[in-house]
Amino acid sequence: MSTSLLYHAFGIRKGFKYTRTQYENGAVIFVVKPEQQSLICPACESRNIIRKGVIWRMIRTVPIGRMPVYIKVAVQRVRCFCCGVIRQIKIPFAREYRRCSRALERLVLTLSNHMTIRDVADFLKLGWDLVKDIQKEYLKKRFNKPKIHKLKQIAIDEIYLGKKNDPQYLTIVYDLKNGNVVFVGNGKGADALQPFWQRVKRAKANIRAVATDMSPAYISAVMEHLPGAALVFDHFHIVKLFNEKLTDLRRKLFHQLTEKENKKLLKGTRWLLLKNPENLNTDKDEPKRLQEALELNTPLTTAYYLKEDLRQLWSQPTKEKAAEFLESWLQRAWSTGIPSIISVANTLAARRSGILAWYNYQISTGPLEGLNNKIKTMKRQAYGFRDLEFFKLKIKAIHLSRYALVG
Ligand SMILES: [Zn+2]
Repeated sequence: MSTSLLYHAFGIRKGFKYTRTQYENGAVIFVVKPEQQSLICPACESRNIIRKGVIWRMIRTVPIGRMPVYIKVAVQRVRCFCCGVIRQIKIPFAREYRRCSRALERLVLTLSNHMTIRDVADFLKLGWDLVKDIQKEYLKKRFNKPKIHKLKQIAIDEIYLGKKNDPQYLTIVYDLKNGNVVFVGNGKGADALQPFWQRVKRAKANIRAVATDMSPAYISAVMEHLPGAALVFDHFHIVKLFNEKLTDLRRKLFHQLTEKENKKLLKGTRWLLLKNPENLNTDKDEPKRLQEALELNTPLTTAYYLKEDLRQLWSQPTKEKAAEFLESWLQRAWSTGIPSIISVANTLAARRSGILAWYNYQISTGPLEGLNNKIKTMKRQAYGFRDLEFFKLKIKAIHLSRYALVG
C-alpha cells in the first residue's frame, strides 16, 4: 500500500504516512502516522513544539467495494512553547468530533442524490443518524439562510401538517422567479412571517409583488412590511375557495333530494364539478354524467356555471375589461340568492383591487402546488418531526432534482 494511493483514493492529505494494514471483522484498517517534519502547533502554527504522546483515533472512510475501511490514525499531542499549551494536532481529512472522513461525507452526499437516507445507510453500512447528520450539515451550510437581497416576486402559502404535529402548520415563502423556497416559518399567519420580514429589512430586498390567498392575516402583514409592493390574490386560491362552496352545496343538495333516482345522478359527481371541463374524461362518460347532474337544475347548477364563468376573469384582454367582467359576475352572483355564493361574491368584492392586480403581475402559487405535494410526501416520512430543523432544511432544498436529498 502506498501513501499516494491513500492520498488519492481515501482522501488522506499530505503530512501523514502509511505504516501498515490490518484486517479485522471483515473490515480493512489502514494505520497512518503524522510525519514528524510537518508537526506544528494547531493554534499558532509555530514549530517551536515538543511531542507529548499520541491518541489513537479510528476514522471510517470510503469502502472498498462493500468492505468497510477505517483509518487508524495516531493523533500527536504537542506542547507549544509560544502558546504554552498542550494540544492535539488537526486531522485534515476528518472534521473535528466526526468519526468519518471528509471523503466518506462526500460519498454520502453524492449517493443522497439518488437514494433515500435509509438506502444510503444500508449500502454503506452506516447508521441512519450519521447519514442524516451529514445531510443536515450540508443543507445547513447551503440553505440555512438563502440570499434574498434580489427577491422581486414572492408567493406566501401555508402547509397543513396535521393535528398531531407541533407546529400544525408551516408558512412557506417562495421566490417566484425560480421557484426556490426562501423561508419556512413555524405556524401560520402574521407571527410565522416575523423572522422573514426582519431578514427582508436587513437584506434591503426590494420586493415588488406578493401572491397570497385572501386571508386577512397575510394581507395586513404584507401591507405593514412591504407597503410598496403589489398584493396579488392568487387566482388559484380564489378558485379553490369557490370549489369548497361548490362541494358544500352538493352535499346539502344530496341530503335534500328525496327521489332515489336523482340521488343516483348526483352520486360521484363531486370531482366532476371541480374539474375544468376541458379535463373531463370522455372514456369514462364524465361529460354525460356531469350534464345529467346539472340538469337537475338546482342551485348547484347555477353555482357550477358561475364557477366556470369566473375562470374567464383571468383571460380578459385588459385590466379594464377584467374589472368590467368582475362587476358583471358579482351582480349575477348576488342575484342568485344562494347564501354561500353571495358570501363568496362579498369576499371577492372586498378584495377587488388585489384580484385585478394580477393584470399588473401575473403571479400565483398555482405552479408551486407540485412542490407543496412533495413537501406533504416528505412529511409522511417520520424523520420530519423528530427533527423540525432538518425537515425545514429539506423543504428549502426541495427544488433540487427529483431525488436530490429529498428522501
Ligand atoms: Zn502555539
